[in-house]
Amino acid sequence: MLYNIDFDIAATILSVVIVFYMLEKKGLKTVTNRIFLLVMITNIITALSDILSSVENSYHLPDRIWLQDLWNYVYLVFHNIMPLLFLFYTLYLLGIGKTMRKRTFFLISIPLMIDLILLALNPFFREIFYYDENGLYTHGTVFIVFWIIAIGYMIAVMVLIICYKRNLTRSKYYPLLFFLVMQVGSLLFQISFPYILVEIFTQTIGFMGVLYSIENRDDIINHSTGVLNRYAFLEAATPAFHRKRRSFIIIKLSNLSYYNMTVGVEQTNAFLREIAAWLEKLDPRMLCYDCTGGHFVLLGEGVGKDEMKDLCGQILDRFENRWGKGSVHMLFPVQVCFGRFMEDVESLEDLMLVIDSPYDESFGERVKISKIVETNKRRLLLESLITEALQNGGFRVFYQPIWERKSNRFHSAEALIRLTNGEYGFISPEEFIPVAEKSGQIDKIGEFVFEQVCRFYKTKQLDKYGVDYIEVNLSTVQCMNTELTKTFRQILRKYDLPSKRINLEITESAAAKNRMELKKNVESLREMGFTFSLDDYGTGYSNYSYMFEMPFGIIKLDKSILWNALDPKGGTGDRNCGILLSNTIHMMKDMKYTVLVEGVETVEQKMLLEDLGCDYLQGFFFSKPVPEEVFLEYVKVVNS
Ligand code: C2E
Ligand code: MG
Ligand code: MG
Repeated sequence: MLYNIDFDIAATILSVVIVFYMLEKKGLKTVTNRIFLLVMITNIITALSDILSSVENSYHLPDRIWLQDLWNYVYLVFHNIMPLLFLFYTLYLLGIGKTMRKRTFFLISIPLMIDLILLALNPFFREIFYYDENGLYTHGTVFIVFWIIAIGYMIAVMVLIICYKRNLTRSKYYPLLFFLVMQVGSLLFQISFPYILVEIFTQTIGFMGVLYSIENRDDIINHSTGVLNRYAFLEAATPAFHRKRRSFIIIKLSNLSYYNMTVGVEQTNAFLREIAAWLEKLDPRMLCYDCTGGHFVLLGEGVGKDEMKDLCGQILDRFENRWGKGSVHMLFPVQVCFGRFMEDVESLEDLMLVIDSPYDESFGERVKISKIVETNKRRLLLESLITEALQNGGFRVFYQPIWERKSNRFHSAEALIRLTNGEYGFISPEEFIPVAEKSGQIDKIGEFVFEQVCRFYKTKQLDKYGVDYIEVNLSTVQCMNTELTKTFRQILRKYDLPSKRINLEITESAAAKNRMELKKNVESLREMGFTFSLDDYGTGYSNYSYMFEMPFGIIKLDKSILWNALDPKGGTGDRNCGILLSNTIHMMKDMKYTVLVEGVETVEQKMLLEDLGCDYLQGFFFSKPVPEEVFLEYVKVVNS
């Protein structure tokens, strides 16, 4: 009887190629990688011994029975090992393997041991295989135990995959199912056609699918830095997130764009490669992942908090020295934090937020993970409160009157947004405006405020009460929005309000960034007839060239300048700050700007500013920001 060994030859060649591919790509970072390599080596031995045993079985030469026996035993040993190995592979892929006890491993290995014991006994009772009177290789009655055990292991793999589906991404789930289908199909085929040795070949095709979609290192490596990438991190962190207390260290470099601009992208990547390679060698228990943007994560198991603290210390020490080879050396400011799954972060989403949140100088070098988690949670909460407020009318606009010295009346007011939530109470715009700027919600907020102001001014005919215009705050991000002019024009048209009734306040920090776009937008707003104030003068850095280029008519001095000069709590204030206040007002007036001082809280401050010739005054001394109705009553009374 001749066996067809063509499929086995093809399987051997394919398996050898797979093994070389894995070794050449050095893709053996994880336990699953290593088990898969073991599976492939077992597959090669199985295929080779199948070829050799089949040749011997085909000719059955009496003087080579020992060789025929040898290959048959080798084949059966490795053929039986394979399903258990694949079960181990699946367990590690699902993230269960690492936490399993040795005893469990032993228990699931018992069926294989039965296989091996039966094989060892075969020479004595020949119930597994024997050669019949014609010398034909024949299965004995007990051989069925091998099938049962192999099928049992396959069923175990299938049950695991289905039960732990949530531990697998789609790219792992489907290839595994494909592999199983190939396995079952080939088993049935093999039972039906025992002389066409196709089982190992189809198995190898299944392995190729696994290699391509699960073990392929190309898509789990960050090619710039040479370490595992973000995708690989998610793959590693997702399985059993809630059950496993994995340890992680996050290493954040400061803004990479600075390095890209100064030394170029190529050189920056070379630095990152060096850093990644160093981090990778730091602790053999922890794998290094590049989660993009100069944010690295070390992830491992069995690393205690003290050990992580120590590792963080080593990282900070190393970062005190420069990186780079040859002539280019650079220091990289770094921020580290560490924690454990479920103790410090409750979900993968929380962990990713911590990893992705930018390097924040104010946090220092060693950051407590709870601080980042809290900041992120608060930011997310604010984002949802803003969305809710935009949808349900939770925002209100308050007005703070501005007093004009010359006419001794409230000739204008500043519109200030208010957010009050039933559950969280009053939330300061100082807190939620920066969040809205980052999330992009600021455009909607700005539109809302502008519309409310126009509606209020028009419907209550504020000009009749001596209110010449309302000041509306414009944020940096709004100023960059090319749709801004169009939106404002539409709203003005809707309420039939002339643009001179609105004065737009731009902060000094906003004025300093993105000058080109800002200038373009401001220019078209100026052409529409709006006037402008420079808000919070004296808080950021003073950029005079910019101040002169922009069409500001009013300069609003920040309250800190006034308070330092004359303490609202009754103190005297600093002499130099007094000089600064007085000279700033005079300088601005000499430059023909109209000067407004914010934060006037006491009569002494009011008198001082009057003496200094300040044009407009705004502050709690006159009125806090108040709702529409209150403001209307106020101006009706005091301006009449
Ligand atoms: P800002 O534009 O400089 O507004 C002045 C801030 O000073 C207001 O705080 C106001 O309530 C406060 N203030 C005025 N007089 C006094 C005083 O005498 N004493 C004290 N302690 N505070 C005084 P508020 O309303 O909390 O607003 C904070 C910041 O939030 C604003 O600073 C502005 O930058 C931003 N903001 C407020 N409303 C809006 C808005 O509708 N759009 C944008 N883009 N930003 C806004
Ligand atoms: Mg303002
Ligand atoms: Mg201000």
